Amino acid sequence: MSLIEYRRRRNFKKTTEPKGDVTAGKHGIYVIQRHLASHLHFDLRLEMDGVLKSWAVPKEPPTATGVKRLAVQVEDHPVEYASFEGIIPEGEYGAGTVEIWDKGTYNMINRKDNKLIVEIKGNKLSGAYVLVRFKDRKNWLFFKKKVNA
Ligand code: MN
Repeated sequence: MSLIEYRRRRNFKKTTEPKGDVTAGKHGIYVIQRHLASHLHFDLRLEMDGVLKSWAVPKEPPTATGVKRLAVQVEDHPVEYASFEGIIPEGEYGAGTVEIWDKGTYNMINRKDNKLIVEIKGNKLSGAYVLVRFKDRKNWLFFKKKVNA
């Protein structure tokens, strides 16, 4: 895991986003940041392998079953990013406003290359969620898992 792509995109002299490091810190951070950039989206981040695995979700993440959202995987972010809120300056990568929309912890229930099942413990999102990867590898579907009868 590395933050090369994350750092390549940013000028840390201009943005207040953390430069960060790969960390073997405590497990299971879950956060969604509402990011009002050129397009409003929601950045879902799950702590995994010492970084925050990250997906940009173009529409509000589902709080109930029955709604499936596209989640576009983006570059890994440093763990410290989970608490970042602020304004990314004009002209910088991701320019706009970042605020925490939901935050908590999660447990990994099942992890495969093309499918993750996680138990999210947030304020807005709570319960088992699924991320299923498309063949193109970049796009995933994100939805709340139906409780098996
Ligand atoms: Mn974003």
